[in-house]
Parts: sequence; C-alpha cells; structure tokens
Amino acid sequence: MGRPRAHAGGKSLVNSPFTCVDLHMHTTFSDGLLDPEALLQVAAGNGVQLCAITDHDSVSGLPRATLAASNLGIQLITGVELSTTWHGRTLHVLGLGIDPGAASLTRLLSRLHELRRARALAIAARLDKHGMPGSVILDSLSQCPVITRTHFARELVSRGHAKDTASAFSRWLAKGQPANASAEWPELADTLRAILGAGGAPVLAHPLRYTLSAGQRRTMVKEFAQGGGQALEVVVGGQSPSQTQTAVGLCLRADLEGSQGSDCHDPALPWQRPGRLAKLPPAVTPIWHRWVDLHDSPARPTRTAE
Ligand SMILES: [Zn+2]
Ligand SMILES: [Zn+2]
Repeated sequence: MGRPRAHAGGKSLVNSPFTCVDLHMHTTFSDGLLDPEALLQVAAGNGVQLCAITDHDSVSGLPRATLAASNLGIQLITGVELSTTWHGRTLHVLGLGIDPGAASLTRLLSRLHELRRARALAIAARLDKHGMPGSVILDSLSQCPVITRTHFARELVSRGHAKDTASAFSRWLAKGQPANASAEWPELADTLRAILGAGGAPVLAHPLRYTLSAGQRRTMVKEFAQGGGQALEVVVGGQSPSQTQTAVGLCLRADLEGSQGSDCHDPALPWQRPGRLAKLPPAVTPIWHRWVDLHDSPARPTRTAE
C-alpha cells in the first residue's frame, strides 16, 4: 500500500467504515518499545483498522510499517510527530498523510536531527559532570535513529540510577533538573509549512498536556489554526472525559477537525493501548475521513477529487 490518498473536501466522506482508529503511535524508530511489525501486530489484535505511526522527528520506520500494515490488512496513514517551539514553549505537532520524501519535510527533519544530537551531547555532559555515566549511556544509544530524553531515562533505570523513568525525569532530566538541556526546536510556523509542503495535515498533539492557562491554550489553538493547522487531537490515551470535553470546545471554537490516538510508546501500559480509546465526540469532524481508502468502504461514498 502506498501513501494514502488525500481527498479534497474530505468532509463529504461521512460514511467511514472505520470504527477503530489510532493515529498516534511510536516505534523503536523513536522512543517506542516495539518495532513497527510488533506494534502493528498488537494494534491489529486490538481491532485497529486505521492507524498512523508517528515517530518523533523521524519517518524512517514508515516503509516497514507500511509493509507490516498491508500484511495485517489494516490501513496505515503516514505520520510523524514533530517537536516545535511556540512562544518559547515546546509543542508537538503530528504531520498525518505526509509524503515522507518531500523536500520541505526532509529539510526540517535534518535540522531536528542536528538539534537532537546537540541536546543528547549536552545531556550526557551534564550527567558526567554529576558523576553519572552520561557518555557511557550516549555510546550505548549510538544506534538509535532519534535520541530522546526517554532513552536516557530508561538507561538510568536499567543501570540502577533511578527506580523508574518518572524518577529519572524528576531527578535528572526534567526542566530545571541538573541534566536537563533545552533545545530550540523550529518555530511553529516553519513546522506547519513543512508539513503542508509535504502534502500532510498538521494536527496539534495532546493539547491538554502543555502547562498553560485556559486563555493561553485558546491562543495556542487559534494561532495553530491561523498558521495552517487542520486538526486537534481531541481524544488521547490517558485523558479524562472532562479533558476530552475541553478539547472538543477548543476544536470547535477554532473550526478544526478532530483526531484521536493512544500516543502508545509501550502497549503494556493500560492507558497507552493501541486503539483502546474513547470515541471521538460526534460534534467533531474526524480528520481521517479524508484518507478513507474507498475500495475498503462498504458505503462507497462518492469520490470528490484525487
Ligand atoms: Zn507528544
Ligand atoms: Zn507521541
């Protein structure tokens, strides 16, 4: 299966046959615990029919994911989760339905990889300075396509320096802690342009996870929409029903479509199980209607454009 077909005017495709959709999952190509084949196997076992692999700042897992999804008979939308800066804060924006080889995206990804390399070096140096095995950990991560703070956290745990990854973050890696190193991710406007330039739909990930006031959150969503953002991740793994209602309000107010995803890094964690999500509230237009593969659709909706 190639890149999913995008449909202009996708809102008309209202008879989506897909009832189990998960458009946010991570593999070993970033900081997920399972490789694409194993993760999609779990997703298929959970009844997922339509999914996206959205590794942090990487599209390298997509060829394997595409093949695995095809073998399992589930539909895959290409994806990526990009780190970006909005008024000095880090946000995550999903690019769904992207052309992974598009020049705009390739340029942005190589910039992100440089920033990640520099940040990993800085984290390792800070750990070393505090008598921790920073450089040793960094060496052990040399095969990782994208090094995240979670990689450092897991290594600190496995080497007996923290009891779990949450403690590794709160003691060493979180903002304000001794081994934290910040990165100046690309600005939101640049990230949105790169996704749109790759033919993808920008989706603001987990909008309620950022530490913001209600007013700041509304401004974030408004500016995201004004910059070309197309959807808000309304349903996310581990989110409470009242948070989902807040996300629905933000989504409708900014006239965005809605998305949903587990943000699975480890399928063994109950709040991250692929496909095990609350339903997208009916007031919200699902973004995936634009990528429905029509030959799989029992409803055969009219194709509006290719
Ligand atoms: Zn994220
Ligand atoms: Zn994620």
